[in-house]
Amino acid sequence: MALINEEPWIRVGVIDSYPVVALEFRGDYTVNGILSCSGSYTAREEGEDKISLLDSHGGVLWTGKELSCLPRAAGVFLLKGVTIGVHFHWERREDQVFEGTLILMRRPGKGIIAINKITLETYLSSVISSEMSAEAPVEFLKAHAITSRSWLGAMLHRMRAEAGEAPLPQPSAEEIIRWYTREDHDLYDVCADDHCQRYQGVTKMIADTASEAVRATRGVFLVHGDEICDARFYKACGGRTEEFRNAWEERDVPYLRSISDADRDLPQVRDEADARGWILSRPDAYCNTSDPQLLENILPSFDRETTDFYRWRVDYAREELESVIRSKSGIDFGTLRELIPLTRGPSGRLVRLRIVGSSRSIVVGKELEIRRWLSPSHLYSSAFVVETRRGAEGIPDRFILHGAGWGHGVGLCQIGAAVMSTRGFSADRIVTHYFPGASLAHLY
Ligand SMILES: [Zn+2]
Ligand SMILES: [Zn+2]
Repeated sequence: MALINEEPWIRVGVIDSYPVVALEFRGDYTVNGILSCSGSYTAREEGEDKISLLDSHGGVLWTGKELSCLPRAAGVFLLKGVTIGVHFHWERREDQVFEGTLILMRRPGKGIIAINKITLETYLSSVISSEMSAEAPVEFLKAHAITSRSWLGAMLHRMRAEAGEAPLPQPSAEEIIRWYTREDHDLYDVCADDHCQRYQGVTKMIADTASEAVRATRGVFLVHGDEICDARFYKACGGRTEEFRNAWEERDVPYLRSISDADRDLPQVRDEADARGWILSRPDAYCNTSDPQLLENILPSFDRETTDFYRWRVDYAREELESVIRSKSGIDFGTLRELIPLTRGPSGRLVRLRIVGSSRSIVVGKELEIRRWLSPSHLYSSAFVVETRRGAEGIPDRFILHGAGWGHGVGLCQIGAAVMSTRGFSADRIVTHYFPGASLAHLY
């Protein structure tokens, strides 16, 4: 692969499959090269694959397949009631303001898609400032800017070079092993939600230090050989990061291997005894912090609904967990008998878990599918050990999950990176800690 040499454009899917989109142009916009628009409008689905644009009195201005809305000068546009945190416990709706071009298209038979087309650096400024507060440590913000930029660069390359990613394995009756890629995004490059990177337009761009960090690192990418690194990140590793292959497909990614998130060697989890020893203790590590000020500075307010992610615990009555698993997996296991860890990665994250009930016994993986099945929203991570409390005749009463970390654990640990920056590590040192063997290159 040849490395890029100019700033790419990026198409961000902000809204997908809404029947109606309420919007407001703040400034003059030209729609499809002919209509001059300013103020409030509504876009409504029309038939299978068309869209109508209505003015504030409900008059139809235009009907067709696609609306391309370009600001004439420095205009911004507002989208009303955008859902963020889809399927996560912090799901909510907000009005959001964006810069640049708005494209409205149809997902045939399913509603309207709103795409914001902007330059990569503008996108990054917004992503970093929506995810972080202005008070976050500067070197941490720079490390994050480099990481997010690299992830994006690698992703754009993949999407434009290949028609898709490797096919997922077919589930069998006995074993359901899945992982999630961006295969839904056929009509844009990234979505605006946590699935890719949270993007809330310019609404939250008050954090000047964040935009500063993006400007200071403009065009800087993590590279490995002649490739831009697919630099993944998440909230907290729990003391040790995870290998790429344990969360996604079976492939060696040299700079996404498991490292100790500390200035010394921490053990790797190789068996169940290791997992207990690791997860039931609180070893000192960069992300082992409960400093409320630091956490508040690097996690947006709605993420702070969760506070203990280095080590956590979820306690279920058996019937409760049975019903969660039934609704999330669509499979009725009958009376839940046992959760049996089968394969783990070095961070303790489960790759394969056997769920045994009175009527079914099925192996589930990988980490995200396990997290999805075992929680009404998402379990913080798949690095957990199970304590089963049994009642009469050995039937379980409760399942208590003792866990570590938040997220897939592959690549940069956000909490750990923030703590490193408060201890004087530079952005370069932080990213090369989490992406071993990668180096930094100025590509434009
Ligand atoms: Zn996405
Ligand atoms: Zn960590």
